Amino acid sequence: MKLSEQGRKFLLELRETLRDEYREGCRNSQDLEEVWRLRHSDLLQWPIKEEGQTFKALLRSLDLGKYLKANKQARRRLITETGLQLGRVLGDAPATQAESAYPPPVLGDRYQLDTDVKYLKGVGPKMADLLSNIGIHTLEDLIGHLPFRWEDRTQLVTSQTAPEDEFVVIKGLLGKTGVRSPRKGLTIVTCSLHTEDGIVELVWFNQKWILNSLKKGKEVYCYGKFERKYRKGQMNSPEVEDAADEHRLAGRWVPVYPVTGRMSQKWLRSLMFQAVPSLAPRIKEPLPPFVLKNRGFMTRRKALLEYHFPTTPVGLAEARRRLAYEELFLLQVEIGLQRRTRELEPRLTVYETDKMVPERFFSLLPFAPTGAQSRVCKEIVSDLTSGTPMNRLLQGDVGSGKTVVAAFAAWSAIQQGYQAAIMAPTEILAEQHYQKLKELLEPVGIRLGFLSGSVKKKQKLEVKRQLAAQEIDLAVGTHALIQPDVEFNRLTLVVVDEQHKFGVMQRTVLRQKGYKHNPDLLVMTATPIPRTLALTVHGELEVSRLDEMPPGRQPIHSEYVRFSKRKRVYEEIREEINKGRQAYIICPLVEDSEAVEATSATEEHKAIAEKVFPEFSVGLLHGRMKAADKEQVMEEFRKGEHQVLVSTTVIEVGVDVPNATVMLVQDANRFGLSQLHQLRGRVGRGEHASRCIFMADAKGQESRRRLEAIAKLSDGFEVAEEDLQIRGPGDYYGLRQSGFPEFQVADLTRDLFLLEQAQADARALLAEDPDLKEHPVLKESLRLRAERTAELVH
Ligand code: ADP
Ligand code: MG
Repeated sequence: MKLSEQGRKFLLELRETLRDEYREGCRNSQDLEEVWRLRHSDLLQWPIKEEGQTFKALLRSLDLGKYLKANKQARRRLITETGLQLGRVLGDAPATQAESAYPPPVLGDRYQLDTDVKYLKGVGPKMADLLSNIGIHTLEDLIGHLPFRWEDRTQLVTSQTAPEDEFVVIKGLLGKTGVRSPRKGLTIVTCSLHTEDGIVELVWFNQKWILNSLKKGKEVYCYGKFERKYRKGQMNSPEVEDAADEHRLAGRWVPVYPVTGRMSQKWLRSLMFQAVPSLAPRIKEPLPPFVLKNRGFMTRRKALLEYHFPTTPVGLAEARRRLAYEELFLLQVEIGLQRRTRELEPRLTVYETDKMVPERFFSLLPFAPTGAQSRVCKEIVSDLTSGTPMNRLLQGDVGSGKTVVAAFAAWSAIQQGYQAAIMAPTEILAEQHYQKLKELLEPVGIRLGFLSGSVKKKQKLEVKRQLAAQEIDLAVGTHALIQPDVEFNRLTLVVVDEQHKFGVMQRTVLRQKGYKHNPDLLVMTATPIPRTLALTVHGELEVSRLDEMPPGRQPIHSEYVRFSKRKRVYEEIREEINKGRQAYIICPLVEDSEAVEATSATEEHKAIAEKVFPEFSVGLLHGRMKAADKEQVMEEFRKGEHQVLVSTTVIEVGVDVPNATVMLVQDANRFGLSQLHQLRGRVGRGEHASRCIFMADAKGQESRRRLEAIAKLSDGFEVAEEDLQIRGPGDYYGLRQSGFPEFQVADLTRDLFLLEQAQADARALLAEDPDLKEHPVLKESLRLRAERTAELVH
């Protein structure tokens, strides 16, 4: 956002207020309530609407009610958070006023950025292995391993001024020690700390070894929770640091790093104290000068120093803004480069527009297209007749009619003498697509073939032969379709369903199977993708949305009920079944492993079949079953041989049994909201009214709020936004599996603003310098990023 002159002034004044408040110890000496009221009234008639809204959001981000009730440390955090947001909007680097200094450099010239971490003090071969497991090989990698939070140890107080029950730092001289053993198994070590205005008692339980470090007369800083007992100050189990130690933590914002295995914070910090101050100043700048200047970012060097060892909250906020931007920018440049590569690939297949008329296709079907389907079909035609291959993402809620749109695309290609392939992530889903497409397309004269891991060898060979001989026009299947030994004759169109379960690599492989190696690609997903994610994960795809349901779908009544009501719920399900309907019962999610989940599903099935519904036939479906067995159970359920199907989430995608009208999700609080929404899409597919019951003993407000939200929301996009807010993007989209590098700093739930800047800047850069000839450091950063991504995938 470009700020007006007036807007900039507004923010600078606001920042000044916050800084004063911070400097004066967060005592509300500025009367923030009054300031906020005034500021807010300024905003009521703000001339630029968008700006006014942003500023209001900024004011809101310092929740005053909370601030006034909070203790000092929490107040500092709140101010810092707001400073962080403010810096983001202001987009300049403020003069930071030093509150603590960076630690002094200690490494000699022998150490370079590309030096192996094993040469640092404290790193033996075992620890070097551990570091290498998390992608840290060189000192530069180490510096790039960023903290995810900081402990505020900047608050230096005395025995008189120390606030009660807060973590504080007190400086003093160590006095007399004592050891007591009031009962067996309990040893208490005490030591008096002589501060400038009184004595504080330091106490440790069962840590006798601490005595060795408590040398009388030594000047130290103690960090811990402060209490007052009988008017005497006391700290329990404080950390004691030598005042002469240049690397002491007292007085700093102390970084807390992600660690694994037997790696301790203290140990990793000691490496950072060695490497960061010595080598961060040598790190090269990947961002183009125009970005640094226009966006007012600090250099990467400075940002890294500040992020590891913040000097001020505002400095930290600025460092964060810069580093988050950089992650987003690298991604956007990469997306831009990919897009460019594709645009350079010319379309080799020529399609004729008059053979791809949506109306003609739908006249062959028993129903008319929805408005959304017509629109998207036209978008596809325009892709297919453009100069570059199609690369489109089709989003639509379960049941919105994506498969039919995919069928249109396939029909269009096949009409003109080509082959098409549709690939699904699971056997069940592939099989269902196959059945449905066969029903739709075989009457139209299209020859279909099915290929999956469970197809018998002989049959497989035959299908492969037919594909190569073009005796099959449309191949439907799973991963089996992209095995090296599968050949097509004239494959020009590839549809990938539920794309997020496929990796980027697999997409590339599929692409290479194409006729003249350049097929048109349509990706379908029922997972609604919030805008931020669409810009990142799918940045290189065009997006279509099917935002209209085919007529005649029954609304699904959703509700959240407590576990204690399960008897009533079972009764209601029984009534429904007695009316001739069928029911799904979804087992609790078990995260440990598929095997454990299968066991628990089997037990659940037994309980339901024997105790709850002994009079009905109850089927079981879980991920550990053989594909053929799964298919058989599904078929039996479809035919109505089972009234109840107990299942894990393998049922999630694409299963279609119109007569199933009830779904009970047990322990619903364990599932993500989007997952619940997907599950729920299994019912409401026929002529009868349907219900979905989310059952849980939702402990805590958060869980309850989530379940109430999903029960109320019926639109997939709304669910997705809610889910993203609650869970964060990594979990939400299974990004880890798709080989998508996780951000260390950027937060897609909050950084839409930065993301848009990064996208605009990346485009501007590539327009000027499409091969990055003038930006070697940036190019190198992209290469490293790709390497790291590859490391994560394999
Ligand atoms: P999705 O793949 O998005 O879940 P499908 O393409 O499987 O949706 O369609 C769901 C159901 O709706 C199918 O039974 C399909 O035949 C039917 N359907 C699709 N489009 C229409 C339409 N325009 N009018 C009526 N029924 C439709
Ligand atoms: Mg479908």
